[in-house]
Amino acid sequence: MSGTVLFRRGRVIDPRNGVDGVRDVLVKDGKVAEVSEAPLPVPAGAEVVEAAGRWVLPGFIDLHVHLREPGEEGKETVLTGCRAAVAGGFTAVVAMPNTKVVNDSGLVTELVLSRARAANLCHVYPAGAITKGLKGEELAETGELISAGCVAITDDGRPVMSAALMRRALQYATLFGVPVMVHEEDLTLSAGGAMHEGPTATRLGLRGIPASAEVAMVARDLVLLEETKGRLHIAHVSCEGSVRLIREAKRRGLNVTAEATPHHVILDDRAVGDYDTHAKMAPPLRADRDVEALREALADGTVDAIATDHAPHGVLDKQVEFEKGINGIVGLETALGLTLELVHAGVLTEQRAVALLTHGPAQAFGLPGGHLAPGAPGDVTVVDPIEEWTVDAHRFYSRSRNTPFHGRRQKGRVVQTWVSGRKVYADGQVKESR
Ligand SMILES: [Zn+2]
Repeated sequence: MSGTVLFRRGRVIDPRNGVDGVRDVLVKDGKVAEVSEAPLPVPAGAEVVEAAGRWVLPGFIDLHVHLREPGEEGKETVLTGCRAAVAGGFTAVVAMPNTKVVNDSGLVTELVLSRARAANLCHVYPAGAITKGLKGEELAETGELISAGCVAITDDGRPVMSAALMRRALQYATLFGVPVMVHEEDLTLSAGGAMHEGPTATRLGLRGIPASAEVAMVARDLVLLEETKGRLHIAHVSCEGSVRLIREAKRRGLNVTAEATPHHVILDDRAVGDYDTHAKMAPPLRADRDVEALREALADGTVDAIATDHAPHGVLDKQVEFEKGINGIVGLETALGLTLELVHAGVLTEQRAVALLTHGPAQAFGLPGGHLAPGAPGDVTVVDPIEEWTVDAHRFYSRSRNTPFHGRRQKGRVVQTWVSGRKVYADGQVKESR
């Protein structure tokens, strides 16, 4: 059901191809057919999208999403997660393996992929576990995971504490040409901690998680990366010290990429306020100077991608005392608005913001899409850069509502999402064709 679509007179921002200006974009047979400065004739039977005043962008790609299926379908399913994705302008998501049945085998990978095909909304790329059951004890069958369709391996949610195991994971993943995605947390340093170690934690009487819990692991893995000549992707970077190490490693030519979440770049540890569990995550929200360093890293290319770490949880998981509150927030439906806050604050150019949601993540994992040259997937996100709106968690397509951004004013909104030339979201409605 992917016909011919002509996006007329929108501002195309396509950082990979150096395009920023008014263009017509023709999508045919699920792929970009033509991008033209001059107006294109309307092909017979084509659907026309009048995009004057709007941005016509490559579909967004999220490298870090928890879809919770199989096992925790009360929080999210592949279907509800895909609905949230397209409502947020994402045309591709990478699904983390820390589901209740861990994705550490080809069977689970195939299950996720078959659910994604049934949902038929956006591209879903599973990531497989590094270790069996995420236990950090023995490697999962990397080859089996990759041949079943995994695009990366990760124990996300947990670190791989054994350096020897991480070293072997890097060697194996290199053989299969996929990145090892790491959740950097030295559990001996973070143990018992509930939030970032600093004045707010002291005021609240909470045990802190020092920055070293992350930075020390980043340092270790960069050493292993250099030795193995592997490919490392550092998830949800949160600290100034990590940024410094990644910047230096890139300068020396190491094959490392990194992502940051919108919340780590928008909020600091003061957002915990009076024990607000919606500000509880791993890694924790950090100090203001960490936020400053992350912002610079997004702008200068040290960080390659904005990834949401979309982490759906039930109400009861968050309505508990802070130490017991479960980590994480949903992010798919707030990512664009928060990213544009950085543009409005002068932190990022419009082009850089778009790159961080499109070409940056595509390149980090070697995924299709992320740009709009002829032959690229017909994945397109149309944004109204002017519209102001208020985040309403009750209206999320996600099955979960855990966000600290409910009620926040945003400027700039996703108005349409197209996947392989098919309209999957428009006018606030997800368009399903199952
Ligand atoms: Zn994580």
